[in-house]
Amino acid sequence: MQLIQGTILGAALLATILAIILAIVITDYTVKPLSQLTESILHYDTHNLKQFQPSNRLDEIGQLDRAFGIMTYQLNRQIEELEQEREKISSVLSQMMDGIIIVDANGVIEMINPAAQRIFGVVTENVLGKSMIEVVRNHKIFETWERCKATREQQITSFETPQRLYLQAAVAPLEPAMPNSSLIVLQDLTNYRRLEIIRRDFVSNVSHELRTPLASLKALSETLMEGALEDPPAARRFLLRMEYEIDNLTQMVQELLELSRIESGRVPLKREPVNPYDLIATPVERMALQAERSQIELVNQVPENLPAVYADKSRIAQVVINLIHNAIKFTPQGGTITISASEETRRVVFSVSDTGSGIEPQDLARIFERFYKVDRARSGGGTGLGLSIAKHMIESHGGKIWATSKVGVGSTFHFSIPKA
Ligand code: ADP
Repeated sequence: MQLIQGTILGAALLATILAIILAIVITDYTVKPLSQLTESILHYDTHNLKQFQPSNRLDEIGQLDRAFGIMTYQLNRQIEELEQEREKISSVLSQMMDGIIIVDANGVIEMINPAAQRIFGVVTENVLGKSMIEVVRNHKIFETWERCKATREQQITSFETPQRLYLQAAVAPLEPAMPNSSLIVLQDLTNYRRLEIIRRDFVSNVSHELRTPLASLKALSETLMEGALEDPPAARRFLLRMEYEIDNLTQMVQELLELSRIESGRVPLKREPVNPYDLIATPVERMALQAERSQIELVNQVPENLPAVYADKSRIAQVVINLIHNAIKFTPQGGTITISASEETRRVVFSVSDTGSGIEPQDLARIFERFYKVDRARSGGGTGLGLSIAKHMIESHGGKIWATSKVGVGSTFHFSIPKA
């Protein structure tokens, strides 16, 4: 009996021990890998692909482990692809010339690209999360955005910033990708507008400049027909006036054609290395007689040993003749016009200096504009195109032209030409 009892007890003990060992083994074999897997999931790091080592067990836990491994791999690949896409978009946005702003339903800035930051003079860190109105400080954009929100359609406006930029803003809803958010695209149209204004001014200037001599011709011919023809001395005077107006018109048309040819690049330059003294000597000789008649001394002070410049001799001669012609026109008898030149690192700077009336600072800034004349009465038969042609000509040589002046003392026109 005791033996039986002992055997049972021993067997029970053994069974318990076996059960415990089995439990430990099973726990080790099943639960531990599961908790390791749980750990891996909990500490899943998208930036560390290699952290997860799938097991090579063949049972269900092994399968689960491998499935998780595959899922991790796919997830990482997708995340990488998304990051690449995001980088692509962000480099496109940062390289764009147009300003881009994204605002949420309340007008709070969610994104702003470098071009928009430049336009409004702000930096990303200071504006993200701020209201758009604080940043753009323009009620027109704000109203356009509100209209876009109400209509859910693209709205466009244009305005000028305090920095005198002329901008066009297009505001569009960003649905469905970002519901309630709006995209604001800002285009800088300053240059287009400037060109448009120049073109408009040009057309109105040309019409005006042509109308004046034409009206005068009409009046003169009418007076002749109404009887002045019968009075030969008066008729002669009228005819001389008519000839003067016709010369003026002819000169203007020629200059306009010249200007348009230069501007459209249709004036081929025959550039070659030229000695600066030779470049100036020809126009100075040609203007000598005219200066003498006006009792003005014309002095060529250009040194003979300057390095050669790369220039079209006849075109530069035209510029110099124009500058001397102007100088004679605005210099009283007994005055002097001096032409000089000096060498700089890459260029030679020429100067035509007079002891004439001088130019007021506000005019000085504008004399190179087409048709700009300081004093219409005093500028005589000028068209106001001469300096603008000179400017184009010098610039097409890769040089610069500018003027300095003091009222009552005189003016100096400088232009530079690159060395050969
Ligand atoms: P214009 O054919 O009328 O002379 P320009 O373009 O050559 O036209 O010159 C523009 C204006 O600049 C002139 O009308 C004149 O008022 C001014 N200007 C040019 N050169 C001189 C100068 N040497 N001294 C004073 N004013 C000048």
